[in-house]
Amino acid sequence: MRVTTAFNRLLRLDGVNVVDVVFGIGVVTVNVVLKRRRLVCPHCEHSSSARYDTRPCPSRWRHLDLGVWRVEVQATLRRLCCPTHGVVVEAVPFARPGAHLTRDLDDLLAWLATRMDKTAVARLCRVSWRSVGRACERVVATELDPGRLDGLFRIGVDEISWRKHHKYLTLVIDHDRGCVIWGAKGKDAKTLDGFFEELGPQRSAAIEAVSMDLGPAFLKSVTAEGHAPQAVVCADPFHIVKLVGDALDEVRRDLWQTLRRLPDPRYANDFRGSRWALLKNPEDLTDKQAAMLTSLKRTRGGIWRAYEMKEQFRAIFAGDLTRDQAGVLLDAWCARAQRSRLPPFIKAAKTIRQRRDIILNAIEHGISNGRVEGLNTKVRLIIRRAYGFHSAEAALALVMLGAGPITLQLPHERTPVPTSPPK
Ligand SMILES: [Zn+2]
Repeated sequence: MRVTTAFNRLLRLDGVNVVDVVFGIGVVTVNVVLKRRRLVCPHCEHSSSARYDTRPCPSRWRHLDLGVWRVEVQATLRRLCCPTHGVVVEAVPFARPGAHLTRDLDDLLAWLATRMDKTAVARLCRVSWRSVGRACERVVATELDPGRLDGLFRIGVDEISWRKHHKYLTLVIDHDRGCVIWGAKGKDAKTLDGFFEELGPQRSAAIEAVSMDLGPAFLKSVTAEGHAPQAVVCADPFHIVKLVGDALDEVRRDLWQTLRRLPDPRYANDFRGSRWALLKNPEDLTDKQAAMLTSLKRTRGGIWRAYEMKEQFRAIFAGDLTRDQAGVLLDAWCARAQRSRLPPFIKAAKTIRQRRDIILNAIEHGISNGRVEGLNTKVRLIIRRAYGFHSAEAALALVMLGAGPITLQLPHERTPVPTSPPK
């Protein structure tokens, strides 16, 4: 078998023939030529048989490694004049526009980035983390489900910090499908206006419920003319439950400061590491954390009352109550919190009373906490991994890959390797 034939079968690049293979230092350079004669614009469907000029455009792409060898694909491309995009270098079927990596390598990097930490991806594939970010952006640009904004009824809006120093993304979640469907840089009313512009008046008018945090920015955008003023606004259960979780954490911190100042260090030592025991959901506790809770229970102090109130509050959002039932429990809870002599809980109860209506809206419209919390946890985990990304676009792309309407396929899943030997 000729070496070019062997490499045609090994690399399986769409639309090209291998014409030459050169072994360098650690790198195999594979020269290819396009099978098609027509030139295609990389940004649109436009194709032409006419070259713009005779200037050759040498191009290189990194492909999947072969064993320990790096593989680089090389081709000389032509230029064409697209009526929309002007003079451009022709598209190739095996790589996305503007990429220096082949589609197969893009897909592999995007898949790995949603499952592995960045050091591992960069070391395994011998690429920079920045290149991984770009690969994610390209995959999202071409593979995102175009129908993701259709048939939306119950959505959630949330902001998330993707980097230190107040850099935020606004994300829109489809509660029914349980995924992120839209995102953009920023966190004010204007950012969310961009979503409604993309959605258009007809699809916006079909939205029945929108869940959000307790701030005024998203509310302003949702209720604006032409957006979704008809939608019922619900408090995001995640934020409400977090409000109470934060109050519990404040009580814990106060107690910790008091114990630390005691002459006997035993009390402080026993209390060390209680944070997660208190804040985690009881079903996720480790044995050690469960034991710590039991010992806190025996003390019957303020911290235990605070813990009980957090759990009672969480139970209201378990998703099995009617609006009226939840209303009764919520009022009872607020009354108990206000009598608790724990300032953080008195404050939380006040906020909850003020937002009673939109909290009960969330319960009535079945925006239950479990699913939202699960998605939130997932998104926050992805974002934490993307903290080293260079741009909001790359961080957003990773969120879309990990929690959005994209089915990522690995190269061997998209075009399976033949099971019978080639003739
Ligand atoms: Zn074009």
